[in-house]
Amino acid sequence: MGDRYFPNEMPDYIPETTTAAVEETVTERNNKDSLTKLLSLPYNILSQRLKASALDLKDTRFWVLSLFLSVLLLAYPKVGVTAFEYFNAEVALVVWELRRVTFICGWAGVCALGAVAAKHAGDGRLLDHYLAQFKEIRLPSDLPYELLYGRAGFLWACSFLNKHIGKETISASCKRAVVDEIIKAGRLTRNGKCPLLYEWHGKRYWGAAHGLAGIMLVLMDLELTPDEVEDVKGTLHYMIKNHFPSGNYPSSEGNKLDCLVHWCHGAPGIALTLAKAAEVFGDKEFLQAAMEAGEVVWNRGLLKRVGICHGISGNTYVFLSLYRLTGNVEYLYRAKAFACFLHDRAQKLVSEGKMHGGDRPYSLFEGFGGMAYLFLDILEPSEARFPAYEL
Ligand SMILES: [Zn+2]
Repeated sequence: MGDRYFPNEMPDYIPETTTAAVEETVTERNNKDSLTKLLSLPYNILSQRLKASALDLKDTRFWVLSLFLSVLLLAYPKVGVTAFEYFNAEVALVVWELRRVTFICGWAGVCALGAVAAKHAGDGRLLDHYLAQFKEIRLPSDLPYELLYGRAGFLWACSFLNKHIGKETISASCKRAVVDEIIKAGRLTRNGKCPLLYEWHGKRYWGAAHGLAGIMLVLMDLELTPDEVEDVKGTLHYMIKNHFPSGNYPSSEGNKLDCLVHWCHGAPGIALTLAKAAEVFGDKEFLQAAMEAGEVVWNRGLLKRVGICHGISGNTYVFLSLYRLTGNVEYLYRAKAFACFLHDRAQKLVSEGKMHGGDRPYSLFEGFGGMAYLFLDILEPSEARFPAYEL
């Protein structure tokens, strides 16, 4: 278990150094390691360093190859590059994914991003083009239900469009038909204890990418009937009740292996969903559970990978989300600490073979693209959102 992550030896909290307090002696300064020095920097100075580090990556192939989702994240105002520069580079790279219909991995995401980019560029003709393309998407009958490749992923693209283009861009009736299918399938698969369950490749997953956390997150963003709301809440309560004694969550129903602390599987993705539940339902139990999952991420979330799907960059967003929800500056410190760890050590550790650079090393979800995005996003922590998961 231990070899999946670095032990977190960073202090639980270091107050920022004020400008006046920077008057430390040369000896004091030399006695601190580079990571500790970063952790005590004032936020505005640190975030500018992170931004510079992200922009350094821009000069490499990262920015050409990795940013399928950066338009979606509307990162371009932060870096001064037009949305279309990103978008045109990326569309060419996702052709192989076009048969899919989801936000993160398919044509729905391309059309949704294209529409939003066109809106920001003031190009009405192109906006209409992408919306027309989106509305032609038909869901295959054998489509699964999860976020990455399934119906929830299509609905997430609808939510994205309605948020960024206008409320009724995708009609309530269009979304309702898909919600009905998701609820019906979840009730058919349930086991008597958990109100909704879904099977994908023979397993009943719990995590964000393929399981309950991702599907519940999407449902919470939509209009539901009272009995559907109860099923969503009941499903989340079931998960909370059945987490591991360590506080982490199983990757799938009945799985006893407590080893994954990723966005895709385990506490981080579930923490983000529970934070959303706390926001939507105003229920203290969800907030408490989200914070407890956050503790797991702090203790076991310094993964030996850099990206957002199963890397440190993604896990950092748990703290940003909890900071937004609670206003507690200790969460902001924790986000800063994970980002500092990446900034200080990731490239060196990868080059030494002590950290994995990702199967797709330049990508947003698995590689340095995700780290660069985090460094830009953390400039405004109250606006930061996990890419493609927190809309
Ligand atoms: Zn993953």
